[in-house]
Amino acid sequence: MTQALVMAELAKGDSAISKTFSQCWKWSHLIAAACSEEQKRRFLQPFLEDDTFLLGKGISEPSAGSDNRLPPDDPKAGLKLKAERRGEEWILNGEKCFIANASVGKLFFIDARTDPNAPLRQGTTMFLVPRDTPGLRIGKVFNKSGWRFYQNGEMIFENARVPHANVVGAVNGSDMKTHAAGDRTGGDLFGDLELAANALGVCDDACAMALAFARTKTQGGRPLFEQQLIQLKLNRMHLLTEALRAFVMRVAWEHDHKVRSANAGLCMNFSTDVIQEATEINLDLHAGAGVSDRRADKLVRDAIIWSHLAGDSVQRMKATRRLGK
Ligand SMILES: Cc1cc2nc3c(=O)[nH]c(=O)nc-3n(C[C@H](O)[C@H](O)[C@H](O)COP(=O)(O)OP(=O)(O)OC[C@H]3O[C@@H](n4cnc5c(N)ncnc54)[C@H](O)[C@@H]3O)c2cc1C
Repeated sequence: MTQALVMAELAKGDSAISKTFSQCWKWSHLIAAACSEEQKRRFLQPFLEDDTFLLGKGISEPSAGSDNRLPPDDPKAGLKLKAERRGEEWILNGEKCFIANASVGKLFFIDARTDPNAPLRQGTTMFLVPRDTPGLRIGKVFNKSGWRFYQNGEMIFENARVPHANVVGAVNGSDMKTHAAGDRTGGDLFGDLELAANALGVCDDACAMALAFARTKTQGGRPLFEQQLIQLKLNRMHLLTEALRAFVMRVAWEHDHKVRSANAGLCMNFSTDVIQEATEINLDLHAGAGVSDRRADKLVRDAIIWSHLAGDSVQRMKATRRLGK
């Protein structure tokens, strides 16, 4: 609940700054939930002591995005970054892309294929990879139209050497969303909630902007606020935003009470629709009144990038599968 409130509040000011906070926040929870005591000593401690210790997680690759979320059974589907064991080290070769904080992070969770003949879920291992790992370099940083503060870059592995001691959990056991893996609400599950909470903050901002504009801008001799067409638009923005707030708070409550349901995924799907509609109405309102507003435009661009990250249709299918379980 607290995390969701903080993310929403920060997103009112800037969605990308909020995302940078929640990114580190959730992966620090993953260290706490999934790493051994020895790994926690090596990585959680420095994270706590250093305010610039940003974290990241590398799953996506140039030819593997949605397939990692809804992996088909074919072993050829999904991520390809290869890890081969050589004594007490693993040698990683391949490339990740769109990785948040790639250019500024100090530690990354990296998913790599350790059994290329098994389907993704059975042949992938998660590694802790510090930024100064020999053989790892950062490629280009993507020039996004929105979420400019939140950097996404390429990570290139050329015979990168990672100690066996940095394997998280079991070899070939990266997909650890099981009861036995402990409570990972702070890590993976918070991913859906943090995005929905972030969208809520953006919608609050869009509503406040639209309302202030409608009260002050006069057209045809009357403030916009007094014109019925504008009232209907403002109403639609608020209706969607308040419905999203109720849904976000419910999912936060469920996480706090360890209630497992499909609601986090459904809430994220809903927030994808709401953030796009609310920010577009706000922009339309300004543009329709002949005013070009950079902030209204920025909110729409942030919303679009936000929805790309959600891999929208795939998230919908994923949530539907959870409903079936
Ligand atoms: C801002 C941002 C931050 C990101 N941060 C990270 C990060 O930190 N770490 C990381 O690993 N990745 C990150 N990503 C990558 C993100 O996870 C992927 O972009 C996402 O999974 C979609 O994959 P893709 O881009 O390859 O699109 P694709 O998988 O190629 O999908 C393209 C479109 O096709 C649709 N689609 C795909 N498969 C199907 C299907 N079977 N049926 C119907 N529709 C389908 C998708 O919904 C989407 O609309 C980030 C992306 C963005 C935009």
